[in-house]
Amino acid sequence: MNSYNGFTGAQREHGDKILKEAIAKGVIPDPMTIPCEICGQDKGIRHYHCEDYSPQNIISNARCLCWRCHMMLHSRFRNAEATAQYFIGVTLYGKKYPPVYHHNFEVLDKMKEELLRRDKPKEQQPDLFDNE
Ligand SMILES: [Zn+2]
Repeated sequence: MNSYNGFTGAQREHGDKILKEAIAKGVIPDPMTIPCEICGQDKGIRHYHCEDYSPQNIISNARCLCWRCHMMLHSRFRNAEATAQYFIGVTLYGKKYPPVYHHNFEVLDKMKEELLRRDKPKEQQPDLFDNE
């Protein structure tokens, strides 16, 4: 596992172990049984995302995210513009995307391209309100 947000891969793996144990003990729900806390997606892959992997904070810091929201959140530095467009569409305008059932970065790359097409003529822009 890669380092993230000041936490080493080993710290993140330890945090994942704490989360898995908490799920197994029923302390927190399995993320596959609850909706994404950002977009409300309740189908396809959902994970817990954490910004703070400190053992004492990880449970309260865990947020259930669908695959798209999770991957977009992690690409916020590499693809800042597409990430901003994605979260504006999802949170401010209620844009809904189809669920993702398998890790598929082609889906994500295609979506990022579409999100960045806003400088093109209007007829070529994606419709923010058009559900796929
Ligand atoms: Zn989501």
